[in-house]
Amino acid sequence: MERTELSEFGEFKLIKHLTQNIKLKHKSSLLGIGDDAALIDTDGKKVLLTTDMLLEGVHFHLSYMPLKHLGYKAVAVNLSDLYAMNAIPKQITVSIGVSNRFSVEAVEEIYEGILLCCDNYQVDLVGGDTVSSQSGLVISVTAVGLADEKEITYRKGASEGDLICVSGDLGASFMGLQLLERERSVFEENPKIQPDLAGKEYIVERQLKPEPRADIIRLLKEQGIVPSSMIDVSDGLASELFHLAAASGLGCKIYEVKIPIDPQTDLTADEFKLSPVSAALNGGEDYELLFSIKQSDYEKIKDQKGISVIGHTTQESEGLHLVTRVGEQIPLKAQGWNAFSEKEV
Ligand code: ADP
Ligand code: MG
Repeated sequence: MERTELSEFGEFKLIKHLTQNIKLKHKSSLLGIGDDAALIDTDGKKVLLTTDMLLEGVHFHLSYMPLKHLGYKAVAVNLSDLYAMNAIPKQITVSIGVSNRFSVEAVEEIYEGILLCCDNYQVDLVGGDTVSSQSGLVISVTAVGLADEKEITYRKGASEGDLICVSGDLGASFMGLQLLERERSVFEENPKIQPDLAGKEYIVERQLKPEPRADIIRLLKEQGIVPSSMIDVSDGLASELFHLAAASGLGCKIYEVKIPIDPQTDLTADEFKLSPVSAALNGGEDYELLFSIKQSDYEKIKDQKGISVIGHTTQESEGLHLVTRVGEQIPLKAQGWNAFSEKEV
């Protein structure tokens, strides 16, 4: 493969090269790349703003993260934050720190992923920054979304007795990561052994190419539901439940049997001698939506594919509990995925 040195291009030519084909999709993107700032029209709505930074060696390893996926994921995780506020993402800016270890072609691959995600979710790339980095690769994305004020959903806002729902399934991304990490260490010991990921495509994809749940936001809108509270699942179900409960001043009860887990997650957890429920509670990076609704909205969502009711909110004094398969009540712990351990439920 050809390799063009970054030094051959220089900053301005690189920016031009990466962004020259960008066509703005939204009328609200009044001015994009090329001046000192982008100009955005708010169409009488409220503006929501979020940012996330990905660091090489901390949030990803290039040994198993293809550059295109990395670009895609960097955008996807920001859009997920906006959907979690019930907002529609409109614009992003992208800032990158690259060392000359990277070629122009490598940075292009990152941008392919960034622009693919922008196309899939109808978002305009309207600016950014490009710097050289001495250490690893850094990608920082800032996303702008719009929402009607009365439709914005916060972490606070749930009432006692609301139903707690989650989209999709949980724990897959974490199990995908375990698999990729294992294959990485096998590869480092013996580069002749190629990764064996057959039959594990779903969980690997969940880790490498998460999809923010625009479809769930659309579905809720169609059903006329504004969740009473909402958050996206980036650090594991348990941790997000703690955030919702704390912000709303409530407790909750979650039923183990109701937690949606894909068969591939189950199978892989088994192979790693981990509990799939632990992966769902403490794994993270699922980028699903966790939200609460009024009981009166139950009929509207009970037959919807992709939404599971997993429990309900309680008085704050009752705390947060998981009801196990055998009906035992265990206090939930918000460990985050660093402290992940197979012994904990
Ligand atoms: P300034 O010195 O004013 O910050 P830059 O030369 O950094 O200007 O950027 C010029 C234009 O290119 C601006 O519109 C900026 O938002 C955009 N830009 C810079 N880097 C990137 C990038 N990595 N991706 C997208 N747009 C970028
Ligand atoms: Mg700049």
